[in-house]
Amino acid sequence: MFEYAPAPESREIVDIKPSYGLFIDGEFVDADRSFKTVDPASEEVLAEIAEADAADVDRAVTAARKAYDGVWSQMPGSERAKYIFRIARIIQERSRELAVLESIDNGKPIRESRDVDIPLVAAHFFYYAGWADKLEYAVRDPRPLGVAGQVIPWNFPLLMLAWKIAPALACGNTVVLKPAETTPLTALAFAEICRQADLPPGVVNIVTGAGETGRALVEHEGIDKVAFTGSTDVGRQIARAVAGTDKRLTLELGGKAANVIFDDAPLDQAVEGIVNGIFFNQGHVCCAGSRLLVQESIAEELLDRLKTRMATLRVGDPLDKNTDVGAINSAEQLEKIRMLSEVGEEEGATRWSPPCELPDRGFWFVPTIFTDVAQSHRIAREEIFGPVLSVLTFRTPQEAVEKANNTPYGLSAGVWTEKGSRILWMAQRLRAGVVWANTFNKFDPASPFGGYKESGFGREGGRHGLEAYLR
Ligand code: NAD
Repeated sequence: MFEYAPAPESREIVDIKPSYGLFIDGEFVDADRSFKTVDPASEEVLAEIAEADAADVDRAVTAARKAYDGVWSQMPGSERAKYIFRIARIIQERSRELAVLESIDNGKPIRESRDVDIPLVAAHFFYYAGWADKLEYAVRDPRPLGVAGQVIPWNFPLLMLAWKIAPALACGNTVVLKPAETTPLTALAFAEICRQADLPPGVVNIVTGAGETGRALVEHEGIDKVAFTGSTDVGRQIARAVAGTDKRLTLELGGKAANVIFDDAPLDQAVEGIVNGIFFNQGHVCCAGSRLLVQESIAEELLDRLKTRMATLRVGDPLDKNTDVGAINSAEQLEKIRMLSEVGEEEGATRWSPPCELPDRGFWFVPTIFTDVAQSHRIAREEIFGPVLSVLTFRTPQEAVEKANNTPYGLSAGVWTEKGSRILWMAQRLRAGVVWANTFNKFDPASPFGGYKESGFGREGGRHGLEAYLR
């Protein structure tokens, strides 16, 4: 068989410093405490990262306020657009370096960071730069909110930053953003990019740290808007902290998406969609298609094809261009995936994984499917956030809708069928923010994204994403 084996991407193209400060008012500054960020594929320490305490967060919010009042909110949209376009272009110029950095810090395959994450990051800055001078056509009397406090997770570190920062800046807000503690490096590279783009000091501030830093940020009185992406548990805590203040809030939380395959679906395409839906980014995807709902008459055949395809997935070095499934982001996340998989077996589901050799060091989990899953099983209800698929069957479209909606979440869903009328029928009934038809995990900066129920509220992306940052 022909083996396509391009050379692994080089680590040499990134210059990781031994330590990084906080980015406040256009400067990198030290903090009293620090923590380490680790390469999940090797467990090697990559760098020492400053940990912001409440006083550091206060300095960052003060800088953001000064930049808001003095410069950014006063600037014509056409001028703001120039800065944001400049940022977008620098991201494109530095895309290879950013992709390698993202893969090293997060564990995701270079093919994904290079072909999906970083191009989408640039696309979001281009898209929202284009809105900055056209806001008045979209909204009557567009006014920014002020200072936005933004907290993001580790699964798409730079892309989540782009979702938050690009619309905020386009609308004339300034920001203090806290990246996740396991993936701070690309946010810090973004801070350098802001300097390269001559963005006025204080417009973007990056405070690194863990949950305590995030809490200090969302509870700070000088913040006008809190934007959070992360787990439903932390989202609830933040909603409580913000309740009773006049801060605006958007929450993008967890998911347990159904990927529904009807008997008339093109099966090979559907198998690719299932694999992409759950194994893309090791399943660390809020909208991952983690529940496969397959029509009973084709279940056996589909599962055979899926298993054959899974046996070809390569798990390993994130910098290897052949890798399909990279490293799990942290020891803690690996433990959670293992624990829920064991629960799946204890509850009576049947576990299957292809034979697979894993590296000795690092955090790894083989792509796994569970059959004989009941709707009441924890693996059918809870977000595993790993490469683990729970398979359920249905007989009628009505039953498919009932099962798909039987979840506390409602972020996304997929429908695979040749019948256009059935796609529309399903889309009207699925209680999910996004419904993909004959595809999965497709993103575009012009499309709004967000959830129903415990998946949160507010929309990011597209014109809807502007509303979250305007008064
Ligand atoms: P997490 O909630 O543990 O952490 C998210 C961020 O919040 C991190 O930066 C963390 O440091 C910070 N944080 C933790 N406690 C905090 C507190 N009390 N106050 C303020 N900030 C705090 O989530 P995670 O494990 O990093 O990310 C995985 C979760 O994110 C999954 O549930 C996933 O579904 C969700 N997610 C949702 C979307 C979406 O758009 N809906 C996108 C990506 C990820």
